[in-house]
Amino acid sequence: MDFSKRIEKLPPYLFVQISRKIAEKKARGEDVISFGIGDPDIPTPAHIIERLNEASRDPANHRYPETEGLPELRKAIAEWYSRRFDVTLNPDKEVLPLIGSKEGIGHIALCFIDPGDVALVPDPAYPVYAVGTLFAGGESYYLPLNEENGFLPDLDHIPHSVLHKARVLWINYPNNPTGAVAGIDFFEKVVFFARKHNLCVCHDGPYSEVAFDGYKPHSFMQAPGAKEVGVEFHSFSKSYNMTGWRIGMAVGNERAVNALMRVKSNLDSGIPQAIQQAAIAALKGPQDCVAEHNAIYQRRRDALLGAVRKAGLQAMTPRASLYVWARVPRGQTSADYTSRLLDEAGIVVTPGNGYGQAGEGYIRFSLTLADDRFAEGVKRLLAYAERSKNP
Ligand SMILES: *Cc1c(COP(=O)(O)O)cnc(C)c1O
Repeated sequence: MDFSKRIEKLPPYLFVQISRKIAEKKARGEDVISFGIGDPDIPTPAHIIERLNEASRDPANHRYPETEGLPELRKAIAEWYSRRFDVTLNPDKEVLPLIGSKEGIGHIALCFIDPGDVALVPDPAYPVYAVGTLFAGGESYYLPLNEENGFLPDLDHIPHSVLHKARVLWINYPNNPTGAVAGIDFFEKVVFFARKHNLCVCHDGPYSEVAFDGYKPHSFMQAPGAKEVGVEFHSFSKSYNMTGWRIGMAVGNERAVNALMRVKSNLDSGIPQAIQQAAIAALKGPQDCVAEHNAIYQRRRDALLGAVRKAGLQAMTPRASLYVWARVPRGQTSADYTSRLLDEAGIVVTPGNGYGQAGEGYIRFSLTLADDRFAEGVKRLLAYAERSKNP
């Protein structure tokens, strides 16, 4: 068997070493607390599950769904965008449901990237932007997200030779892994830049509803002209704790949405309709659950930040997302510090370099552990901080 070049080029799984260590510890019966995974621990709200249950019994939902999704779901998405962001979307042309946003994020490269083309990809970032580009035969040009710049990419210093080949610009706010947010002024700058260089902007925004201290993140679609230059990916996963059900959406530019629909119609057969019905219930039903979940995450965030800072790590207080992005002590790598926390505190974090070179020197803590495990993890971190002070 000879594998394709794209398979050979896939980046190695960066967490091999740490996964092996965790497995060894568990085999020895040691309890390990993982702040590694960004997957809400709180169940999907009951009213959404009830709708799913009911819809699953309707034989109309037992057959192949349409690629473009149920018209009622597209309408519910457009209405939600209007209520939440005051953004107008045509439900039939500017909204496309996805089998989780990851699916669309991976596939959209097939709409814009030919071999030799370039995608502008933030670093650190969710790995799918670069891998989708690779699968389409293109290359990623990385835009470092630095703390000095509020973890926003510097669009003013990209070489002309790169811009000439660039077709797509990826952005993601509220950001995973840094927890940074973007103001509408940044999104306006992105629209201007995309027009000038004829790019499709792909904004990945699954954390727009996971925010703290009363902060309300923006949609890229709120920037004037955004719909002319790009699309926004969104998801039910983080807003409604629905990661397991696999449903998300792309909205925005009609031609881009249509191209993605055409790619998908040749690859998948849509989202199970009972799950689409559950998603409609999520958007149309009571929204108190969103605020309740955010209050839980905010409490965890504050407890964790206290311990992180006591341990001598610097971290910005995130206003949104499910993550705390902390800088490790000078002279240590992300991998060193990750190993040390596992060995000396029995806790797992994600090494920042797993999200790209510019993530070196950082670790990511996720806020998605059940309260008792979370509290135990914070306790271990505090004890570790004490021990490292008085060795
Ligand atoms: C969780 C996450 C997604 C994917 O969400 P799904 O809709 O569950 O596929 C996309 N982008 C980022 C940055 C995420 O953290």
